Amino acid sequence: PPHGRVWNFSAGPSVLPLSVLEEVQRDLLNYKGTGMSVMEMSHRSKTYGEIISGAEATLRRVLDIPSNYSVLFMQGGGTGEFAASYLNLFASRGVREKQRKLGRQLSCDYLVTGTWSKGGLKEVQRLGGRPNVVFDGAATAGDGAAAYTGVPPVADWRLGKPEETAFVYYCENETIHGVELPLNTVVDAVDPSVPVICDMSSNMLSRPIDIGRFGAIIAGAQKNMGPAGVTLVIVRKDLLERDDDNGEAVRGLPSVLDWCYFDRAGSMPHTPPTFSIYVCGLVFKWAEEQGIRVLERRRAERAKLVYDEIDAHPEFFRGRVDRAYRSSMNLVFNLPTPELEAQFIAEAADANMVQLKGHRSLGGIRVSLYNAMPLEGAEAFVALMRGFYKRHHQ
Ligand code: PLP
Repeated sequence: PPHGRVWNFSAGPSVLPLSVLEEVQRDLLNYKGTGMSVMEMSHRSKTYGEIISGAEATLRRVLDIPSNYSVLFMQGGGTGEFAASYLNLFASRGVREKQRKLGRQLSCDYLVTGTWSKGGLKEVQRLGGRPNVVFDGAATAGDGAAAYTGVPPVADWRLGKPEETAFVYYCENETIHGVELPLNTVVDAVDPSVPVICDMSSNMLSRPIDIGRFGAIIAGAQKNMGPAGVTLVIVRKDLLERDDDNGEAVRGLPSVLDWCYFDRAGSMPHTPPTFSIYVCGLVFKWAEEQGIRVLERRRAERAKLVYDEIDAHPEFFRGRVDRAYRSSMNLVFNLPTPELEAQFIAEAADANMVQLKGHRSLGGIRVSLYNAMPLEGAEAFVALMRGFYKRHHQ
């Protein structure tokens, strides 16, 4: 890659499109004649107002976000939104009315497919909620963290009854375990009266999605959208409606997690992560220039190159995830021994390919192929796999 850069296969915070970084560099000291950096600019200035509203407008075009959805830029990361999803839904008028009708607390459904959906579940427990586990992928396979290798058939899911369920929550791409749900698997399985909340932190903006089928989508920016520090929420507006009796200040819902509070103030009820939002806006513009369908095609092409190599030598490149649920964003595999894995990572570094070590909880190799990774990066990685196989297989 140019500028002495590396092929960066990081799972996040991840690589950005080079043209975006170059634009940031050009405008770093003096943003469009303002005489200052975006970092130094009041978020209440006209210029910054245009940056944030421009970012939202571009994203709306790229993802075809319907007008009955709000787009919010928040802080607190994916983890903040684990709590926010639960707290905001239970503060919404719809859930409160349903609860009054039922005469007791509603439940909420969690699909556990890996570390991050488990994180969402644990956050609800931490807040005193009693989520229903629809399935736990680890329990299905049986041996702890490494056991998230797929998803049980829909017929085996223990979804709650629609009239007793506030929402269904899942993570579409498990960044650590490399498990990705095929498009619409969950929205097809859930009763349309129940809002579906989806964590798309690591596959957002990689393919077109039918936003209208979701209650809310949450995503940390730092994988496929921009720098760390900003978290995107796309939420159906009726879920922002509140009873008069819980009004603006909902008991137990901190303002920084309150979707309503952000919605009413155009994502700026307090100082937003100005620079991160600005860079996201540039990435959205880049995505619009490429076209979301082109991004989807490229994501499939990159992943296919690597998976084909894994499938050619499955006894050597040991893929961990069932084919139907293999992620196109984070591809995980093991080599026959930990020594070979260490050697593979060392040889990769010699060839300018970095951040390939599997998550510390899992080991092995993880190669993340987000939007900004050119096809040549995936080709270089496959060339490394081929050479390594030749030299080291028995
Ligand atoms: N959800 C997914 C899918 C993630 O990959 C991550 C982080 O890697 C998170 C949530 C947590 O996000 P954050 O670190 O922004 O809190």
